[in-house]
Amino acid sequence: MNETFTADKNGYYGEFGGAFVPEMLRQNVESLRDVYHQIIESPEFQKEFTGLLRNYAGRPSPLSFAKRLSDKYGAKIYLKREDLNHTGSHKINNTIGQIILARNMGKTRIIAETGAGQHGVATATVCALMGLECVVYMGETDMVRQEPNVKRMEMLGARVVPVTSGNKTLKDATNEALRDWICNPVNTFYIIGSVVGPHPYPDLVARFQSVISEELLSQLREAEGTEDPGYILACVGGGSNAAGIFYHYINRRNVRLVGVEAAGEGVNTGLTAATIAVGERGIIHGSKTLVMQNEDGQITEPYSISAGLDYPGVGPIHAWLARTGRADYLNVTDKEALAAAYELTKLEGIIPALESAHALAALGKLKVNKTDIIVVNVSGRGDKDMQAYFEAKT
Ligand SMILES: *Cc1c(COP(=O)(O)O)cnc(C)c1O
Repeated sequence: MNETFTADKNGYYGEFGGAFVPEMLRQNVESLRDVYHQIIESPEFQKEFTGLLRNYAGRPSPLSFAKRLSDKYGAKIYLKREDLNHTGSHKINNTIGQIILARNMGKTRIIAETGAGQHGVATATVCALMGLECVVYMGETDMVRQEPNVKRMEMLGARVVPVTSGNKTLKDATNEALRDWICNPVNTFYIIGSVVGPHPYPDLVARFQSVISEELLSQLREAEGTEDPGYILACVGGGSNAAGIFYHYINRRNVRLVGVEAAGEGVNTGLTAATIAVGERGIIHGSKTLVMQNEDGQITEPYSISAGLDYPGVGPIHAWLARTGRADYLNVTDKEALAAAYELTKLEGIIPALESAHALAALGKLKVNKTDIIVVNVSGRGDKDMQAYFEAKT
């Protein structure tokens, strides 16, 4: 593993990762792998990528000192404000990167999967920007609980395809997107929304999201005179916002990295999405990682109140960080996340996404001192979750 924390040349993080794809997909995955390194290191790519991040997505995202939250928990708490990006989450960092790649590869049709709809919206957005056709696969259950995002995608010109297999959520949408890619290998680029899927996706998505920790280094230096906080907290669905804010800190061992999974009703209730807590080694969506599965190796259905965390796998990067002990993984129930969302809103005037609320809820689980600096990644804003927040209140 090198300084910048990418997978090895075969896409492995220790024993996790790789590219386990059907023969029909092999060529797609290999050609993406071959061109991506060469393209993303070119000055033209970097110029366009950073230009769009700044002038289109609104980066750098602020680092806000949370005074009242700090008083409550007895530490210095900062919030990395990915909620303020265009389209409302960190997802846009990745879709901007991948759409530039797609265009460079001469692709004319874009497909994506989405859970909460944030990745679908971010993908539909960059497709509108570049004038490319866009098809988004979304589970029917998620289409109901995230309806405003379905409308947004449609207004942006995307076709949203309902997926009715499994429990009709993110895993099932990902299966459909992979199937589409097999059928349309020549003109279609698959924009994956997290650090999951076959190599090179986990590596590539982590790189695009690493802009978060790159900014954090200089923002903390300015605010606190040090680049290194005591703790970095981020929620983990597939793990892309966490990978992005961990990225440049991986080799800074004095910084404690904490990923927060969705426990749902509780890790031992069978209604959970805490893959690192309950998963076993397995293969999902082309990657060897930890997977929620039964004794026969069948993938079990995940559950979380948060559509963005409702995934039975986890990026191989996190399986590896957990296995090596470099990062700690906690989990937070639906109830705890809802309480944390209300708390942040009341204390700081920020309504977070339900996903981000999981990271915030972990604040109460750390043993901290007054002088500890804690950075929480606020991965997205709560607009899409207003219905869940209203229902929780009543
Ligand atoms: C999609 C999403 C997540 C979960 O995805 P990761 O890849 O784990 O980051 C978290 N927060 C928000 C706001 C999201 O939209």
